[in-house]
Amino acid sequence: MRFLTADYLYPLHIAPIKEGVLQISDKGEVIAILENRAEVPPEQLEVFEGILCPGFVNAHCHLELSHLQGVAEKGKGFLDFIGAIQQRNEFEKEDIQYAIEKAEQQMIANGIVGVGDICNTTDTLLQKQKSNLTYYNFIETFQVHEDKIRDTIKNALQIRNQFRAIGKKASIVPHAPFSVPPKLAQEIVNHFDEKDELLTIHMQETKEENQLFENKEGAFFDWLKGVNASEEIWQTRKKSIDIFQELENKKILLVHNTFAKKEDLTEHYYGTCPKANLYIENALPDYSIFDTDKLCVGTDSLASNNSLSILEELLVVQENSNFDMNILLKIASKNGAEALGFEKLGSFEKGKIPGVNLIQHLEGMKIIEGSFVKVLA
Ligand SMILES: [Zn+2]
Repeated sequence: MRFLTADYLYPLHIAPIKEGVLQISDKGEVIAILENRAEVPPEQLEVFEGILCPGFVNAHCHLELSHLQGVAEKGKGFLDFIGAIQQRNEFEKEDIQYAIEKAEQQMIANGIVGVGDICNTTDTLLQKQKSNLTYYNFIETFQVHEDKIRDTIKNALQIRNQFRAIGKKASIVPHAPFSVPPKLAQEIVNHFDEKDELLTIHMQETKEENQLFENKEGAFFDWLKGVNASEEIWQTRKKSIDIFQELENKKILLVHNTFAKKEDLTEHYYGTCPKANLYIENALPDYSIFDTDKLCVGTDSLASNNSLSILEELLVVQENSNFDMNILLKIASKNGAEALGFEKLGSFEKGKIPGVNLIQHLEGMKIIEGSFVKVLA
């Protein structure tokens, strides 16, 4: 049994408590929250400077791309980034595995306990089998040529089933509105079963995506035309969000939304990966448009980031929004756990095993460059 206390306790399902005490079992299960330190014998109290919050949920990552750190040049835009990603197979299997293992260790050290992870391969299967973290594996599909959609789905099913065979959550998901024709969206929905809880999709990450759907022009339009892509992609949709109808309004986590406008938003969950957006597009979403109970945060992959740290992402969000600490921590933990269906994570509610992060070196209630996370449980 442990009694942890700091300057502030952020349970997230209730308001922050000054000098609140978190009682957990030796296995990290939340037993109680105490309003007052005086309720606990002083010799049993572990007192810290800083704030305590539940473990972070990284709502969007591509763990299998960890070996591509530094391969893509910064600020060159999305099409250039895709070119860099295409080098993913030019590496030794051992190097890929080593990078995956190191990246997971980094997430653990940074207080991450759950991950929504995009998979195009089974490269991360071995690491995930160790169950160091809770994962929802999203088997990503894209196929702009309609005659190849059957093969794309067949391949995705095989990958999905391998993750499910080791007892992990796994669902087939669409990559993005510009890379998924209506016919593929339909196939994804057709394969949705009782184990599928959530879809996720990259959304409005670039200006070019909006141009493609709204004006049928621009760099994405030229690129898709150039590779002889199915014209259904842009002819049947006036906006990126029109793909939701094809996905029959399943529960969806939309990731990036860098170029989303308020009128584009729906009741779905939204994910932001600010450092990756700055890395690739040098742009950020307008944070004032989101419902802060539905906003989550992710790191994206090391191909477009120099670290897998939710606290570093929060620093960028904090600098570009009016969110207070409680909102920042909710988007870092509770909302992602809800979106991904991680029932034991996301808050200090009794019975959960959410992990305990101590955040230190804050300036008042603000995150600064030197702030850091210590994992207490
Ligand atoms: Zn991504």
